[in-house]
Amino acid sequence: MDLKTMLAGGKYNRGHCPICACPTVFVELGEWLRDQYLCVLCHSVPRWRAVIEVLDSYFPNWRDLTVHESSPGGASSEKLARECPGYLGTHFFKDVQMGRCRDGIRCEDLESQTFEDERFDLVITQDVFEHLFEPERAFREIHRTLKPGGAHVFTVPWYYWQPTRVRAVRENGGVRHLDTPDYHVNPIDPDGSLVTREWGYDLADIIYRSCAMTTTVVRIRDRAKGIDGAMCEVFVSRKS
Ligand SMILES: [Zn+2]
Repeated sequence: MDLKTMLAGGKYNRGHCPICACPTVFVELGEWLRDQYLCVLCHSVPRWRAVIEVLDSYFPNWRDLTVHESSPGGASSEKLARECPGYLGTHFFKDVQMGRCRDGIRCEDLESQTFEDERFDLVITQDVFEHLFEPERAFREIHRTLKPGGAHVFTVPWYYWQPTRVRAVRENGGVRHLDTPDYHVNPIDPDGSLVTREWGYDLADIIYRSCAMTTTVVRIRDRAKGIDGAMCEVFVSRKS
């Protein structure tokens, strides 16, 4: 979409984009800001800007750290890959051996990784955990692969007003749906990604019970940084 079309709706504000790291204009293309409040320069959405803002605030030396991102996609992942020499993005390819690469991208299953213990300072996941069948295993694997003092920085759609709801489970080699199937866009799979969990107010407790990491929820509402709208929280789980 070109700039003229984006601005035609008339709802926009000036600000400073954490991803572009320069002045920009944020434009509202619709009411669902989570997907429709874009930076005109990098076309990022609020949750991507929130992740970079949290990294800048909580881990200002993130460019010098070793970082694993599972299932990268979008302007925030591109910035991490561009600016952090110790960044490693992995995807789960169904037909590639774990730990091997396709087109230069390493294949890893977040729930059962081939990385050695305590390899990373930071693990990043952006809207990944709502698609996992065994998220507790993934939390434990992230804990295992983090150095002491390391952190998992992530986003998920957070239904903080209700307990976590399981929408689908793996059963007998297939999938059993407990709710109407809901799919999100997946950059490496045209069929999309099935939503297996609606994470609720017990998310931090589930993480603590899984791997003893303590979680902080960061909620930013700042139009000057283009961060506004529902479900833009960033979670920071720390390994002691
Ligand atoms: Zn931007």
